[in-house]
Amino acid sequence: MLWRAASCALAALAPVSGLALADQPRLALPLSCEIGKTCWVQQYFDHDPSGGVKDYACGSQSYDGHDGTDFRVRDTSSRVDVIASAAGTVMTVRDGMPDRLTRGAEDEQAIASLECGNGVLIAHGGGWETQYCHLRRGSVLPQVGEAVSQGQKLGEAGYSGLAAFPHVHLALRKDGKAVDPFRSGDEGEACGAPQYPLWTDDVLAALPYARSDIIGQGFAPGAVKLDMLEEGRFRGAPEAEWPAMTAYMWAINLEPGDTIRVTFEGPEGIFATTDVTLDRAKAQYMLFAGKKRPPGGWPKGLYRGNLEITNAGRQRLSQSWQSTIE
Ligand SMILES: [Zn+2]
Repeated sequence: MLWRAASCALAALAPVSGLALADQPRLALPLSCEIGKTCWVQQYFDHDPSGGVKDYACGSQSYDGHDGTDFRVRDTSSRVDVIASAAGTVMTVRDGMPDRLTRGAEDEQAIASLECGNGVLIAHGGGWETQYCHLRRGSVLPQVGEAVSQGQKLGEAGYSGLAAFPHVHLALRKDGKAVDPFRSGDEGEACGAPQYPLWTDDVLAALPYARSDIIGQGFAPGAVKLDMLEEGRFRGAPEAEWPAMTAYMWAINLEPGDTIRVTFEGPEGIFATTDVTLDRAKAQYMLFAGKKRPPGGWPKGLYRGNLEITNAGRQRLSQSWQSTIE
């Protein structure tokens, strides 16, 4: 935590663009959620001015030209309030665009120039503004010209506009120029620890860089694909008539060298195990283990999924989940 104390001290000495410190916003989370439980950072701001990608920590957890921070919610069935990160005046609002996950070029064309989807733009004074994108259709609350306080509900997280997963894209701008709240006042090539951060201390403490988390686990009636999980499928318990059964896990921000092991256990012991070792970082990853229904049907009793993620012999994350067929 040493770097955090150091960067906070620096912030007081070198405010963005020479502006008085009092004029700088300190941003709260744009979602009413618990980091690591109901929301996660999926994509950071891109600091690379060329065609490459570089997030504030010199990693690649972003995409080219990404001018904000994406806070994801678990899947399209998640209902999480979007809230104002700082007090201000509402400048523009948009609602009415459908919630639709962007899956290809055709989807992208359909929302050209409307990439933000349903959103709210708030001015905070001193040339600062925040924008909240991809809100759920029909959820946008404030009116243009309305004064909002920090934490006031603006709508709900959704997936309108250019959104490959349900999230809120929070953009921060100063005099029209995009600013990364993890690393503001940084004009050059530098990257590393947060510098002159514009988050509240609480948010900074809750957001270590690229924190690994398990965002979902459960049972499914067959092979699982990532987009199925993003659509909120497989939330129910196993059923005796399923033609196959798998135990799946879904995690974000995995590291090179992570070994992921999922085991699927039935009442009579382990049915299947799947192991994968990653050769590079993964922003999100899904893995399952399973089998076809036995000739005599699924035995009654307890079914369990187990997940263990290790790296260089050290356990990083683990999780177990279970359900009963009666
Ligand atoms: Zn975004």
